[in-house]
Amino acid sequence: ASTAQPLDIDPSKLSIQKTSSPKPLLASKDLVFGRNFTDHMLTIEWTSTHGWSSPQIVPYQNLSLDPATCVFHYAFECFEGMKAYKDSKGQIRLFRPDKNMERFNKSAARIALPTFNPSAMIELIAKFAKLESRFIPEEKGYSLYLRPTMIGTQKTLGVGPPGSALLYVIASPVGPYYPTGFKAVSLEATDYAVRAWPGGVGDKKLGANYAPCIVPQIKAMSRGFQQNLWLFGEEEYVTEVGTMNFFVAIVNRETGQKELLTAPLDGTILEGVTRDSVLSLARERLEPEGWKILERKYTMKEVAEASEEGRLIEAFGAGTAAIVSPVRAISWKGKLVNCGLKETEESGEITMKMKNWMEARQYGDEEHEWSYVC
Ligand code: PMP
Repeated sequence: ASTAQPLDIDPSKLSIQKTSSPKPLLASKDLVFGRNFTDHMLTIEWTSTHGWSSPQIVPYQNLSLDPATCVFHYAFECFEGMKAYKDSKGQIRLFRPDKNMERFNKSAARIALPTFNPSAMIELIAKFAKLESRFIPEEKGYSLYLRPTMIGTQKTLGVGPPGSALLYVIASPVGPYYPTGFKAVSLEATDYAVRAWPGGVGDKKLGANYAPCIVPQIKAMSRGFQQNLWLFGEEEYVTEVGTMNFFVAIVNRETGQKELLTAPLDGTILEGVTRDSVLSLARERLEPEGWKILERKYTMKEVAEASEEGRLIEAFGAGTAAIVSPVRAISWKGKLVNCGLKETEESGEITMKMKNWMEARQYGDEEHEWSYVC
């Protein structure tokens, strides 16, 4: 055996301590995103000298940490957001968990937290999700939101790499994002704050990236918009919407060809699993119909011009929580840029197709390598 081996996460060492007081299940309609949690949590400790210790599933409980613990002072925290789905046979399925674990490792490495064997972690998450399967409602649209989290736990105010860390996974049953069907949202383009910048950490899922985004979000909401649209630079490149990647479908002015655009992964864009899946589905199913699928920089001015010239087909956000979120309009420089929907419409055609295509693979209605049966 190599010397590095004992340091990694070992799923065969998992111990399970079941709760003696199982929680009552909430009625599906009472589920609020991220409010209620399952009976257990998965925890794995790490130290720089011993590496990863034996994984444990224990009753959901508080953490006890010294006030000097480095996570509280210097934000040594990163996380993931993924879901487990119940298929028509009652099997539990993860969706592209390899993508989440790859991103988790990249986030951890960037803030001097330890990395781990991704397939070992997927195996553990699968066991955990299966153990909590009674919390996942049978109805379509419901799922178990999984929150893998890693924190630096060293007790020190010294600024340096954490000598110890804790990886844990908690789970929250969630309902469909749009319980009564799609609702198109309106956005406010934020021009006074940026979410991410070249050379920064906007492409990592660090807790520290999220707290500064709340004020622009509440400002947008106070003016009647559901989300803010993040622009970047003097050129006002369109980057992301709230905590989702952003797609626009336009007709190219010169060629007349239909194009599906999203910003490229240049370090300022979170590498969304949904983004990657939408691009892949679009290349597979829209390209043959004559669409051009493009990851390129585009500006808010381009979007506004396309709208004015009747070339903006539709726009949507893409992320794990909603899958896709149709956009009605964007407030920008005092005008309202219409995103192609008729007044009576709540979603464009591509947005709707993407939701259905994604769900088919998430719930295993279409067998596909993206779906991981636990
Ligand atoms: N952008 C940001 C800033 C996010 O927080 C998220 C949610 N993780 C996304 C995009 C969408 O990523 P995913 O499709 O992996 O949920």
